[in-house]
Amino acid sequence: VKAHGSNHYQFHEPGMTAAAAERLHLENDLREALLRGEFELYYQPVLDTERLTVCGAEALLRWHHPEAGLIPPDRFIPLAEETGLIRPIGTWVLREACAQAARWRRLGLTGMTVSVNVSGEQFWRDELPQAVRQALEAQALAPDALVLEITESVLMHGSANTETRLRELKAMGVGLSLDDFGTGYSSLSYLKRFPIDTLKIDKSFVRDMVRDEHDRTLAQTVIAMGHGLGLQVVAEGVESAEHLPLLRRARCDRVQGYHFSRPLPARALSRWIQQHQC
Ligand code: C2E
Ligand code: CA
Ligand code: CA
Ligand code: CA
Repeated sequence: VKAHGSNHYQFHEPGMTAAAAERLHLENDLREALLRGEFELYYQPVLDTERLTVCGAEALLRWHHPEAGLIPPDRFIPLAEETGLIRPIGTWVLREACAQAARWRRLGLTGMTVSVNVSGEQFWRDELPQAVRQALEAQALAPDALVLEITESVLMHGSANTETRLRELKAMGVGLSLDDFGTGYSSLSYLKRFPIDTLKIDKSFVRDMVRDEHDRTLAQTVIAMGHGLGLQVVAEGVESAEHLPLLRRARCDRVQGYHFSRPLPARALSRWIQQHQC
């Protein structure tokens, strides 16, 4: 242990760095978190670009840590992936998101879809199709109510099996969305071959498209290319009203971002929808 002088470190193995100790601590807590019911899904609305009606919501995981408070996913998903804990957590997310989609559909929001993020560690496991099927069946939910978001980098690092796995999921009737598009190294031939429905332009391009001409061109090009391939295009990270005319002119299909709503607990989003639907 380095010369930190804090009592905090004296309980750990000699030679263990503070970072490693904190990691171990977090990992132990993460192991317990599912059992203790500390996870919650927040939902962020996805709207039709023209009419601004709600078409769906993206489920985003939150961890209510008993001492540290609300921990954002970027701080624990990588750890969950490394330790394999993402599998039980991911299964819980699927079940919970399907239960919520079923609730919204029962409330009369019949076209509403729920998008779930699937990490690489989950995507490559043999049990994923089964977990998806069980989550849908438990709620008697139509498969087209569920969209799986898979990042471009996960799909591009895959082997020839990527296509097989995507087709297996597609055959179940769920939607497939390519997340964080533009940050990886997609080749157009992949895009054409994969049975995906939707491209999500990464928020880094969308955010700056109002003031940065290069990002604006990139976003417009991605939208046109997506449409050329028969895909629906979603812009995430829409943070201001100035984005809308640009995205409308480019014929972007869907918009999502803080300008409309931050991710909210399920009940709060239900209220938000009631106030915003015409
Ligand atoms: P993502 O899938 O790209 O999700 C979008 C992120 O952008 C979310 O962050 C969302 O809150 C944030 N966001 C939405 N609108 C705006 C905006 O207008 N401006 C900006 N700057 N950000 C916006 P969040 O909730 O912190 O999630 C971060 C990442 O964690 C997600 O990125 C996703 O990769 C991962 N993640 C979240 N939930 C899950 C999950 O259930 N399973 C897995 N495997 N990963 C998840
Ligand atoms: Ca996503
Ligand atoms: Ca994204
Ligand atoms: Ca991401």
